[in-house]
Order: sequence, then structure tokens, then C-alpha cells
Amino acid sequence: MTKVLLTGGAGFIGSHTCLALLESGHQVVVIDDFSNGSAEALGRVAELAGLGPWRQTSAERWSGAEPGGSRLTLFRGDVRSSTDLDRAFEAADLGGGISAVLHFAGLKAVGESMAQPLRYWDVNVTGTVRLLEAMGRHGCQTLVFSSSATLYGTTDTVPIPETAPLQPINPYGYTKAAVERMLTDVAASAPGWRIALLRYFNPVGAHPSGRIGEDPNGRPNNLFPFLCQVASGRRQHLEVFGGDWPTGDGTGVRDYLHVMDLAEGHGRALDVLQAEPPQLLTLNLGSGQGHSVLELLRTFETTNGLTLPYTVVERRPGDSAVSVADPSQAERRMGWRTRRSLAEICRDGWAWQSANPQGYSTNKPQHTPELIGTQHGS
Ligand code: UDP
Repeated sequence: MTKVLLTGGAGFIGSHTCLALLESGHQVVVIDDFSNGSAEALGRVAELAGLGPWRQTSAERWSGAEPGGSRLTLFRGDVRSSTDLDRAFEAADLGGGISAVLHFAGLKAVGESMAQPLRYWDVNVTGTVRLLEAMGRHGCQTLVFSSSATLYGTTDTVPIPETAPLQPINPYGYTKAAVERMLTDVAASAPGWRIALLRYFNPVGAHPSGRIGEDPNGRPNNLFPFLCQVASGRRQHLEVFGGDWPTGDGTGVRDYLHVMDLAEGHGRALDVLQAEPPQLLTLNLGSGQGHSVLELLRTFETTNGLTLPYTVVERRPGDSAVSVADPSQAERRMGWRTRRSLAEICRDGWAWQSANPQGYSTNKPQHTPELIGTQHGS
């Protein structure tokens, strides 16, 4: 068993990874500012992991209450705050130290990053600097970083290997590239660092229980959560961005992977980092399979017995025709590959959305205001 810290662990990918780590016996501390995550999500993770009642024990702290001390503790805190980070590292009832950090905390909306670049550099880059300083103070040298296929830009290479040139095209992507560079420099600066840079393709779906899933703020920018909200009646119809791409049916092709496969990939990365000598590991996490927008839509319809209205509109600026991972290194280096199908993704995503049409909040208005540039998946 390992004691791990998850920054941003109350968000979509963090909460599913938290559950996977608890199920493999790890002890987990989470720090999250709830800007795109909630204590409710982790309460449900505690429930799914059988950790007993979930309790708020102070203004900034929640934990499960299973006999013998909790294996899950949540702190409300900001990764840019050394004080907040120290509080999480020093979580009193854990004894012993945090042996690894999984760093999910960050902003991820492309449009928003173009409107507010400084905020992106501050949270994504300064936040990682503060985290690395805190790791230094607490003697922790193992880190798994949430990177993104957005680093590859609009390449025509199919599938994309990790060796492809990095050419991000927006501030969100620049901050991910900057953090990868910074972590490479840190790994080279002193012996002992064990770092994994995990480049996600398109994580979607939800835990099959329907208890946890993606709960974007405002109007979803990404296809899958948008599709789910059309299915539940919260949005009227899907806009398909471009029907004239050079693909089989003219719509964009992406590499969708089930969020539980992604969560398990983090567990594998942690195992490999801890078992092997210090290293910097850079891996794509994707299925290696491409699916078009219409293919995803049809699979969602047939799997769930629904009909989803859509219209084909202009291409979205900055999009590419095809983005598919070459995931062979992840299989070779850590024995990981996706196991869940597109139909399972659609089934589980709908189980979550239909049981939680307003996400974790029961108070959200039925039709939230349409915001500019919200979620951007990977
Ligand atoms: N897409 C779409 N309508 C939407 C959102 C996305 O047609 O409302 C398309 C988009 O052009 C791309 C695919 O769906 O081909 C996946 O987009 P998403 O934003 O989910 O992921 P990313 O572009 O980051 O790969």
C-alpha cells in the first residue's frame, strides 16, 4: 500500500482514478479547490470503495469513516498555495509520508485559455512549480502528470507516437508543454526523480455504477458530455463541427477512451515508477482506435435506444481531421491497454447522465447559461 496525493482529485479524471487507487489498496489524500470538482464526487467515491460514511470534519476537510482510520481524505485547497499543499502533505491521521503525487489540478478549456492566458499560466505552470517545491520539502520524488494529446497540435500523422513533434496551438497547450519541459529539467537536475508524463487522448464515459461521471461547468465544449446532455434533454441538439473533413464520413475522428481505462493506466504508471529505477516516462494513453463524430453518435443511439437530433455546421477553428494515439509504448512499458469498447463508453456515460441530469448539483437550473469556451477534454 502506498500513500498518494491527488491534486485535482475531485474532478472527472481525478475522482475515477481515486476510486481505482482505493480499490487497489492505496491510501489517498486529495487537494482540490472545487473550481471544477466537488466534495460530493469524492463522497460517492468513498461510498463505491466501501469506506463508510463520508464526513466533513472541518471547514476545509472531509474524510471517510471506516474503522481504523480513513483511507480517503479531502482538503479544499489551491495548488498555488504552499500552505494548502503543506496541509495536505502533513495530513495528521495518515502517519508516514506521501510517497507519490498524481497531478490532475489544472485548467483545461481552450477558448477560456485564449481569453485569459495569464490565469492558465498561473494555475497550470505556477501551480506545478509550487507543487514541486512542496514535494521537495516533504521528500517526495515520484510524480504522475496529466498531460495531453493537445501537445501534438493539428498533425496529420496517424497514429501519433510519443516521438511526434510537439506543436501546441493555444495557451492551454502551451502550458502543458511548458510543464512537460519543466518536469524534464527537474528530472535531469537531481538523481531520484520518478516522473510519468501521461498524454491523454479523449477520456469519456463514466464509472459503470452511474454514481460518478463528468460534470462540466456550463455549456460543454467537448463532444461526449454535450451528447449526454442532448440525450437527457438539457440541450436541444448536437452541432457537428464540419461534415467535409477528409475522413470516411466527413466528420472528425478521435481516439475515445473509457475513463476507467484511463484511471487504471494511472495505477499502472504508479506501479512502474515505484518498481523500477528512477526515470522519466512519457506515454500516450489512448485506445489506438479512431471513431468519427457520427460513429460515436450512432453507437450512443443504438446502445441506449435513443435518437439524438443533430445538425452539421462549420468546422471549429483549431480542430484537426484525425487524432489517434499510437498506444504501443504504454503496452510495452507498463502492460496497459484499453479494455472497454465504444459501446461500454456510451452505456456508462448514459447511466451517469440519466441518473444525474444536473450532475452533482441538484440545484442547477435546467438550462444553464451558455458560456464561452468551457470544458476541453484532454
Ligand atoms: N465536436 C462536435 N460538436 C461538439 C463538440 C465537438 O462535432 O459540440 C467534434 C470536434 O470537432 C472533434 C470531436 O467532436 O472532431 C471531438 O471534440 P472534443 O472537443 O470532444 O475533443 P478534442 O477536439 O479535444 O479532441
